[in-house]
Amino acid sequence: MNLILLGPPGAGKGTQSAVLAEKYGLPHISTGDILRESVKAGQGLGLKAKEYMDKGALVPDEVVMGIAADRLKQPDTKKGFILDGFPRTIAQGENLDKELNKMGRGIDLVLYFATSTDVAIERLTGRRVCKSCGFNYHIKNIPPKKDGICDKCGGPLIHRVDDNEATVRNRLKVYEDQTKPLIDYYTKQGTLKKVSGDMGVDELFKVLSKLFKEAKLA
Ligand code: ADP
Ligand code: ZN
Repeated sequence: MNLILLGPPGAGKGTQSAVLAEKYGLPHISTGDILRESVKAGQGLGLKAKEYMDKGALVPDEVVMGIAADRLKQPDTKKGFILDGFPRTIAQGENLDKELNKMGRGIDLVLYFATSTDVAIERLTGRRVCKSCGFNYHIKNIPPKKDGICDKCGGPLIHRVDDNEATVRNRLKVYEDQTKPLIDYYTKQGTLKKVSGDMGVDELFKVLSKLFKEAKLA
């Protein structure tokens, strides 16, 4: 099954993607994660992307479209994929359709994680991420067993620079202006399903697995 997870930052897309990837054996493709990897590498693309990301602005379409198209050409996506945080603009959505079309593929389902602003801000400002494996925690909602240490791999937990309140507010504004029009785009295509991103991780997983069965995708 070919999935897109759409919704504001802090909707829980990354957390739910990780769960879905494990349960259904699909690759989790997060353009944010791929960009952060190139920032870590500290060259070319990464240097450029960092400026945008630290401000909470979008990285230019051409850059992200190239990254996504390359990733979707990898053989592990043949059995399906979970796109998390891509597309984020109408231009990216149109480009994705074009690229998938060329490969004789398409999107089965777009899960729209509707989330209130308060919940999103609370989740992002409290989020901690494992520097080694990327697993997401939350100081209150998903605390690690040991403070500052990843349960999965023992790596150190960090607070992303773009997870401070001012930058989070900017990311939410960018979402409203540039990403929200995709709701209409996919509604017209008939692939959009709205779910509540305010639910807990396990509760939402149950809702989604039921939805996949009904759509005969799993
Ligand atoms: P979140 O969904 O919590 O905002 P991500 O990890 O998905 O976090 O994205 C972090 C940052 O990476 C974004 O604020 C943006 O700068 C950049 N980014 C990720 N995906 C895209 C995209 N599809 N288009 C443009 N910029 C992107
Ligand atoms: Zn870890």
